Amino acid sequence: MSSRAARLAHLHTPGLAKGDPLAPPLVLSSVFHLPGDPAGARQYGRYDNPTWEALETALAHLEDAETVIFPSGMAAITAVLFPLLKSGDRILLPADGYYTPRVLAQRFLSGLGIEFDTRPTAGYLDGGFDGYRLVLVETPSNPGLDVCDIRAVADAAHAAGALVVADNTTMTPFGQRPLDLGADIVLAADTKAPNGHSDVLFGHAASRDAGIVATLREWRKLSGAIPGPFETWLMHRGLETLELRFDRMCRSAETVATRLAGHPAVQEVRYPGLPSDPSHALAREQMLRFGSLIGVTLASERQAEAFIEACPLIEAATSFGGVHSSAERRARWGDAVASGFVRLSVGCEPTEELWRAIETTLSEARRT
Ligand SMILES: *Cc1c(COP(=O)(O)O)cnc(C)c1O
Repeated sequence: MSSRAARLAHLHTPGLAKGDPLAPPLVLSSVFHLPGDPAGARQYGRYDNPTWEALETALAHLEDAETVIFPSGMAAITAVLFPLLKSGDRILLPADGYYTPRVLAQRFLSGLGIEFDTRPTAGYLDGGFDGYRLVLVETPSNPGLDVCDIRAVADAAHAAGALVVADNTTMTPFGQRPLDLGADIVLAADTKAPNGHSDVLFGHAASRDAGIVATLREWRKLSGAIPGPFETWLMHRGLETLELRFDRMCRSAETVATRLAGHPAVQEVRYPGLPSDPSHALAREQMLRFGSLIGVTLASERQAEAFIEACPLIEAATSFGGVHSSAERRARWGDAVASGFVRLSVGCEPTEELWRAIETTLSEARRT
């Protein structure tokens, strides 16, 4: 991935004429000059946009697959589920993954005759995939950080005739490559680390199947769920430093997770990079990095809230992947985790400064 990262910074240079801007232009036009036969030109802002093209080229370079961008992670998930499924289909969703796809399926897919089952990520292969049209994997799962074997799921699901979709939000293309492991579609909430600056919601889906990509583009055009050019431009700007930020975040997370595991205020640490973690062996095999999320269980809700509120280098916020470290108690949303479980998103602060702040605050929270 390092040669991909290096080339990302120079992707559009070969297309430049003397005097052209080096940064991709932000084009806000909703209409384009279009006399006569409209074929072969940009037509209208719901179909095409030059700033979208710059970002889709960059993401396609990272995913090594044609990419379609969307205004949020959920818009990308919706764009995969609605046009690729039909009445009578059954799908499998992770029981412990991001909760909104399950709510979406319950509220809107079931009314269209599309049923869904759920299964915990750690046992995703158990029971096989017979009868499913589509299988969604999310590994490591958010927030529990369990891992499943993407290649084994893809092989078994394909044998059963199902499409395999991987939500790669927690890992980014620099941390895990689901298409290389056999998934048909990779999608992500770029709201998280790829944008990284907590100022844009964004999503994308990528596939090496031209028919799937054409369907996603058609869905975007017809549904009108299009990204704004300014958000797209900001997203492109964020993406240019993803490799640098994600590298710092993952390195820091490895250090912080190891030290948290030895801290007396901590009951349990989940991090795929810890040799003691149940997901470690599989994580070593299929992930390029161990990620920037850590699951930390403190003794009680009170200690967890006190820690989050008091730590000077942690923002109390939902979401993750920002340049600033952040944390939240996931039980407040009803996730099936202990009441003292904190999802810690490690940001880009200098590692030792961050650890000192965490260590000091933890020791104080323990005395509350
Ligand atoms: C945040 C998130 C999403 C949804 O992304 P939005 O941009 O908020 O719509 C989807 N999947 C995972 C794993 C996420 O963490």
